[in-house]
Amino acid sequence: MQHFSSEQLLLVSQRLLEAGGSSADEASVVSDHLVRANLLGHDSHGIGMLPFYCGSLDRGTLLPNQEPVLATDHGAILAFDGQRGYGQAVGRVAMEHAIERCRATGLVAMTLRNAHHIGRVGTYGEQSLGAGFASIHFVNVTDHDPLVAPFLGKEARFSTNPVCLAMPSPAGREPILLDMATSRVALGKVRVAHNKGEPMGSELLLDADGQRTDDPAVMFRRPQGALTTVGDHKGYGLALFGELFGGLLSGGGTIQPGNERRGGIVNNMLTVILDPSKLVEGSYLESELGDLVDYLKSTDPADEKQPVLIPGEPERLSHAERTAEGIPVDDTTWQQIGKGGELLGLEAGWHDALLAPSSEQAPG
Ligand code: NAD
Repeated sequence: MQHFSSEQLLLVSQRLLEAGGSSADEASVVSDHLVRANLLGHDSHGIGMLPFYCGSLDRGTLLPNQEPVLATDHGAILAFDGQRGYGQAVGRVAMEHAIERCRATGLVAMTLRNAHHIGRVGTYGEQSLGAGFASIHFVNVTDHDPLVAPFLGKEARFSTNPVCLAMPSPAGREPILLDMATSRVALGKVRVAHNKGEPMGSELLLDADGQRTDDPAVMFRRPQGALTTVGDHKGYGLALFGELFGGLLSGGGTIQPGNERRGGIVNNMLTVILDPSKLVEGSYLESELGDLVDYLKSTDPADEKQPVLIPGEPERLSHAERTAEGIPVDDTTWQQIGKGGELLGLEAGWHDALLAPSSEQAPG
């Protein structure tokens, strides 16, 4: 395990993505997104995704330098097609359009279909929060075999269909951001455990026979095991609405097997953006939300070492810690990033060389 600063990881990611054909701007948007996910503690959606992106570029399931195309514009309802571009880039642009529209309408429903992996969905919630808006995001994941078993099932039928809910907070308080996979864990977290050779909680995973297991390897061999849904039937219901809202309403399609699976990751998302000031006075929002958060935070913890937190708070704590102490990257992930660059034509050991202190002596 090595520790890197965010600047170091940004440098490595930028080089890799530019080698994959991205413009400097696109490489910067995607790198910022990935490294921020690492800083916030979501290594599953950080630079560990880069090797997969290299394979997707190689297979042609991910296309660099795409702009989202506006497919439908009904005022407060917008539909975009991501053209299989980097989801972090096309998603950001689609959100910018939707936020701009919301300034006029107060409420916007926007769909984005056919985007390559959009990454950490909380990023789009943060975009809304930056404009002072609340937002709701339902996402499905297609183009590859399912990973998550429906409640009571022993085989996978869904992917990890994330849901994100964002609420701005009054001045001086942090916004509230719930950003979660509808599986108990995101697949990327299983990949991280697998790379580290660590077991996982057996409530998270089923083996290929539908039996509970603590071995993350079941998700990386054939026949494949399955992840379980969060909250049993409730998470199953939310995952289903990821398909309905994200996949169906965007026109991007659901996970049903009649749709093509090319082994990439395609995300389809429904986003609803709402200007809270159209519903309640700012002063009311400020006092009521503040009182609610204070009430929650005043709960006596069941375990003194684990205080009650507000969604979004664990990520802020991780950000502070990792900014100070560096971002841990396991050796397998680091090697996979190196190999990913080689697939795109970079020389062996390019990422170590990029971070090595310069051998040039200062003049004089
Ligand atoms: P997680 O379980 O670590 O956290 C989920 C949410 O719970 C977060 O909002 C977090 O702030 C909150 N939380 C955690 N501990 C808390 C506590 N003690 N008290 C209150 N709130 C708490 O996250 P996850 O479900 O593993 O998802 C990780 C990331 O994966 C997310 O960013 C998600 O968007 C992303 N994801 C993306 C895709 C995709 O296809 N693009 C698919 C699945 C997941």
